[in-house]
Amino acid sequence: MATEPLHPDFYTRAGNPNHEQAAAVIAQLEGAERALLTATGMGAATTAALTLVRAGDHVIGQRSMYAGVTSMLLNLLPRFGVECTEVDQTDVEAFEAALRPNTSLVLLESPSNPRLEVTDLAAVAELARRQGALTLADNTFATPINQRPLELGVDLVWHSATKYMGGHADLMAGVVAGPTDVVERIWNTTQVVGAVLAPFNAWLLLRGLRTLSLRMDRHNANGMALSEALEGHPAVSRVYYPGLASHPGHAVAARQMSGFGGVLAFELEAGHEAADAFISRLRYAKRAASLGNVGSLVVHPAAMWAHAMTPAQLEAAGVSPGSCASQLALSTPTTSSKTSTAP
Ligand SMILES: *Cc1c(COP(=O)(O)O)cnc(C)c1O
Repeated sequence: MATEPLHPDFYTRAGNPNHEQAAAVIAQLEGAERALLTATGMGAATTAALTLVRAGDHVIGQRSMYAGVTSMLLNLLPRFGVECTEVDQTDVEAFEAALRPNTSLVLLESPSNPRLEVTDLAAVAELARRQGALTLADNTFATPINQRPLELGVDLVWHSATKYMGGHADLMAGVVAGPTDVVERIWNTTQVVGAVLAPFNAWLLLRGLRTLSLRMDRHNANGMALSEALEGHPAVSRVYYPGLASHPGHAVAARQMSGFGGVLAFELEAGHEAADAFISRLRYAKRAASLGNVGSLVVHPAAMWAHAMTPAQLEAAGVSPGSCASQLALSTPTTSSKTSTAP
């Protein structure tokens, strides 16, 4: 029951000149034929999934992904007759084993939250293509400055442009980029679902994009410097940053990324209480759950998710149980390299 899409001149839910400008810049950055904008990152992920799967299909996601996407896989899509499987994204063979004849979509995210786990995007894209499944990669943590999944063979890229692309913590937006025909199909769904970005936010997004590469250079430098400093600190038991040679995904990350971003995670030897006390005493990093803006942020995942997840679920999601270790994730500042208040 396809209906004709609305025309941008007719009504802003169908698009806007601000959208066109920002989307064109993003398409160019990602090396895509076409990009579209949505009201939030999750608006991009859900409209893409609702466009690309139908009842009877099977979808593969990663064991470690953005929580909203996990919820889409576990709670939303199954209600519409779509089966979902989550795999360990550090294991290419796990994707191969999970692919079925009716797998229509493979959702990827690299690096992922909270342990910055790395997916071999080229290898998984190749496996999916052979099986006739589309790949859709969340490139939020990397940005096209550090990683361009389409060049690695991934079919479609999406973003929470709320983060690095917007860059100033003053807007929410999402992006999907890829081949024109697929992006146009997703755009038709976006209009029906109504997950359309406000024109003013598109204008703010364009403002953010103008400094994206400068900001990412600084994020990359700060992320690397802070990771190395923390790795050498006696109070820190573990640092998760794909730029470190000690990271299990470093070799793959070094192959597919040109910089490693401003987000890192680490565990304090002294455990849950110590992590909480440490965060409370930081002078520059604010306790807030976002990333990619010009300030420093820090979260204590074990405490943040304690109300929503059981200890077993926390463990499965890569968040250490509060009793023995804690993790902090920082998005490092772009404005000063001296804010790396080490424990
Ligand atoms: C924030 C985030 C999202 C969700 O984006 P919203 O703009 O909050 O809807 C998706 N993926 C990643 C990696 C994120 O960090």
